[in-house]
Amino acid sequence: MRSLFLNSREPWHTSTYLPTYLPTYLRQSTTAYLTIHNMCAWIVDAFGNDDVRARFLPGLVSCEHFASYCLTEPGAGSDAASLRTTAILDEASGEYVLNGEKAFISGGGRSDVYVVMCR
Ligand SMILES: Cc1cc2nc3c(=O)[nH]c(=O)nc-3n(C[C@H](O)[C@H](O)[C@H](O)COP(=O)(O)OP(=O)(O)OC[C@H]3O[C@@H](n4cnc5c(N)ncnc54)[C@H](O)[C@@H]3O)c2cc1C
Repeated sequence: MRSLFLNSREPWHTSTYLPTYLPTYLRQSTTAYLTIHNMCAWIVDAFGNDDVRARFLPGLVSCEHFASYCLTEPGAGSDAASLRTTAILDEASGEYVLNGEKAFISGGGRSDVYVVMCR
């Protein structure tokens, strides 16, 4: 399979296709997962700084790594503004600590990269 990333600026931009020999049910779930993966790669490309883009995009574009989009929570579905997951900067380590619950995440148990909506 060739690289899937459709939305990115150069030099990551490539074209996409899905194998047509897959059964329909597999094509639908595969299409959904790859569409989400592609959306996550676009988010990284559009909103990440150069370091983040260089760290994540090569793996996402080549599909060496897969990404999930994590918005839905037990108390926040259609009403995304009510999400409660937080990302708090830990001054000692310089890293963000995520706290919260997510639900219905496509590829949640399989992905390598998680794009998490939080406060
Ligand atoms: C197969 C599958 C894959 C999914 N993958 C992901 C994923 O990868 N990442 C992710 O973040 N989420 C994912 N989701 C979650 C999905 O995005 C949510 O289920 C969706 O946002 C709806 O949220 P909810 O289930 O909490 O329903 P609710 O928000 O509780 O809505 C229930 C019903 O109430 C209606 N409703 C809600 N608010 C209003 C309103 N203000 N006015 C009128 N009617 C309203 C809705 O239309 C719906 O019919 C997935 C869900 C499914 C089924």
